Amino acid sequence: MIAGLKRGRGPLAWVLLASAATATATAAPNSPATATAAGAAHGSLRLHAWEAGDDPAALDAWVHRRMHLADVDVARLVAVKGPRTVANTLRIYDDANNELFLAQAQAQVLYGVGATRELRDKAQALTQEASDAATALSLNQAVYRALAAVPQPADAASRYYLEHTLLEYRLAGVDRDAATRARIKALQDKITELGLAFERAVHDDVRTVVVDKGELDGLPPDYIASHPADADGHVKITTDPPDKGPAQRFASSADLRQKLFAAATSVGYPANTETLRGLLTARADLAQLLGYATWADYAMADQMIGSPANLAQYLQKVDSASREPAAREYAALLEYVRSRDPSIQKISVADARYWQEQYRRARFNFDSQSVRPYFPYAQVERGVINTASKLFHVDIRAVADARTWHPSVTTYDVYQNGVKLGRIYLDMHPREGKDKWFSTAPLAAGIHGRQLPEGVLVCNFTGGTAGDPGLMQYGDVVIFLHEFGHLMHHILGGQGEWSGAGAFGVERDFVEAPSQMLEEFFHDYGVLSSFARHYQTGEVLPQDLYARMNRADAYGRAIGQQQQLTYSAVSVDFHTLPPASLDFDAVYQRDAERYSSFAYVPGDHSWASFTHLNGYSSNYYGYVLAKVIAEDFFAQFDSHDLLGGPAGMRYERTVLAAGSTQPAAQLVREFLGREPNLDAYQRWMLTEFENAPTASSSAH
Ligand SMILES: [Zn+2]
Repeated sequence: MIAGLKRGRGPLAWVLLASAATATATAAPNSPATATAAGAAHGSLRLHAWEAGDDPAALDAWVHRRMHLADVDVARLVAVKGPRTVANTLRIYDDANNELFLAQAQAQVLYGVGATRELRDKAQALTQEASDAATALSLNQAVYRALAAVPQPADAASRYYLEHTLLEYRLAGVDRDAATRARIKALQDKITELGLAFERAVHDDVRTVVVDKGELDGLPPDYIASHPADADGHVKITTDPPDKGPAQRFASSADLRQKLFAAATSVGYPANTETLRGLLTARADLAQLLGYATWADYAMADQMIGSPANLAQYLQKVDSASREPAAREYAALLEYVRSRDPSIQKISVADARYWQEQYRRARFNFDSQSVRPYFPYAQVERGVINTASKLFHVDIRAVADARTWHPSVTTYDVYQNGVKLGRIYLDMHPREGKDKWFSTAPLAAGIHGRQLPEGVLVCNFTGGTAGDPGLMQYGDVVIFLHEFGHLMHHILGGQGEWSGAGAFGVERDFVEAPSQMLEEFFHDYGVLSSFARHYQTGEVLPQDLYARMNRADAYGRAIGQQQQLTYSAVSVDFHTLPPASLDFDAVYQRDAERYSSFAYVPGDHSWASFTHLNGYSSNYYGYVLAKVIAEDFFAQFDSHDLLGGPAGMRYERTVLAAGSTQPAAQLVREFLGREPNLDAYQRWMLTEFENAPTASSSAH
């Protein structure tokens, strides 16, 4: 997931997803000396908002200074006399874009990770202000007319940037009359406000389940050790991912699993009911004001998919590819479950992870607890960094003295051939009030020769506490790779001329392809054995255990894709049906029952914490579309030499480095040499499980 606040529309909409950078005094490309005149004027201001500490007033001053610099740029741009050129118009527009991007991105990240409630409150208000300023710029007719008067730039990247910017201006409604633009502005500001409130309610809502210590039966010893019982023999388990994940997968107590499911699917509920209704209403009103039947029509107009009608056809193809395999996976699972408990007619979604784990043990002789000792957090961090370094031919070096927003955050600089490309931050463990999901956010866009791109992973993995080795579930390692794929895309795709043409400016229904592609590297023994070592003995992950893990992991892929179709349908339906009468629980249940293999549990309010509804709005389907592309991409790599073969370099240059200087569909065609298709996706879903030995009774 990439961080998203507001999915408004406008040339700066994607700015809302990224955020500012940290120019260190020693980083040559960021130093005022190499900056242009405009850059030099801005150069006295620190690149990083958080360097002033946790004082909300300092953040306020920093964000307002950035917004002021954007205003200065806009005034300068409008005042230009004589013919419009790239240098006197597009460049200054991009400078303004960059300032607002920095303001919004850094405020947004601190809203999710700031150390104190006061700072997070201030960051939320400032994110709103910077977003509102971005919306105002997207409706500024003088700027639009100036950009429209710039002759076609000679180079293709600048030409596409200009064309795309003008397109987004028109989609934003810049050519409407003043009264309509005022109404658009008010609705966009409302959308930002309610989107921030929706996510904040999730950040602030950690639920706790209290159970008897005996109910921890089945959980790993290190988990039990880190959850001591109180004097009454009670243990607390929270809905934070490191607490919740293992309990859902391993706890043999059905009572614990159900309590935890009820708690986790109530996060954000009921507070977010009216917030979400207000958000969907404002989006529907805005879409109609701009001449679209629904928000989904509007939000897909500039995406690869183009329209909800195209999407319906596409999802039908994905459904056809995954429905039968998912039914077979479910039938095999149910047969196993009924052999353990004949009273079960249909497996509840609250028990799905537990029974899938049990089934993998029985069918594939794979206990996912057995690999956790090979994945202590700190070692995985080094392993993921080393893997990405080899694949993308970069050198990722720790920065010891970087100032960040929290002591647990680690900082690295990324180099290629000795040249610094950017900076990354890893904020990887849960804290009170912190964003509860796993995402990547830009902190600064890149501008060649002037500013290096910077980005951050905001995650909630285990580890980070003294005395706890932070043994990760293998699925968490896959998530780590996924997010690192986003981060590399942002850094490698942020080396161009324009702050507004970096990686996260690419169509949102493509942006999950580089991340999902990197997930596949988890399944390679060469990659894994380079870092998966037992945290106590140092033993490398045995090849036999690896093979069993891979076979077991392939089981459930089709069920997982049907689950992705559920979320895609919810996301579209919420943005298509009339919001006033929308019954969130009923629509969620209907979509779950249409696709999910597992029984819906009454009281499942998962939509109330489905933060993708803010960042991705109607377009969650992008995960599915991009998954198909990611598998097609991955199939181009040499499976015997994933990191060393030529595909890595070609992929980096063709797909990642291009950022958003071309339409995504063109990047995909260039790398594949043809249109993408579902062949590799279908093979990924089918082969390993279908070809695995038939069920044995080696359950334990
Ligand atoms: Zn992602």
